Amino acid sequence: MNRDPNCVFCKIVAGQIPSKKVCEDDDLIAFHDIAPWAPVHVLVIPKEHIASFYDVGDAHTAMLGRIMALAPRLMRELGVTNGFRTLVNTGVDGRQEVPHLHVHVMGGPRPWAKG
Ligand code: AMP
Repeated sequence: MNRDPNCVFCKIVAGQIPSKKVCEDDDLIAFHDIAPWAPVHVLVIPKEHIASFYDVGDAHTAMLGRIMALAPRLMRELGVTNGFRTLVNTGVDGRQEVPHLHVHVMGGPRPWAKG
């Protein structure tokens, strides 16, 4: 599996830095954002290092589908009942800060800190 030793999310995948993990399987991991915008703010990432959404292609359709199917399940399990927001920041102009593909999934009662 492709890994970047300098990538903070690859380090979370490898257990080299701590995270508040929500769920994990062979291909994906979900954990709470360290600076949440919303009462519930989870990041879902592929374990493989893919720098951004820009780098995704046909080989990644199953992984992307699994992330999208996981998002509502996580919101239900975390008690979100009134809708949620999904967000993928991509590249510099998309204001992506961590260069490892991740989907933000945010919910819970408003007001939110951001978003
Ligand atoms: P983005 O701007 O889409 O790249 O967002 C990156 C997100 O990763 C931000 O919401 C950060 O708060 C979050 N983040 C950065 N480092 C960590 C970490 N070690 N654990 C959990 N979330 C993190």
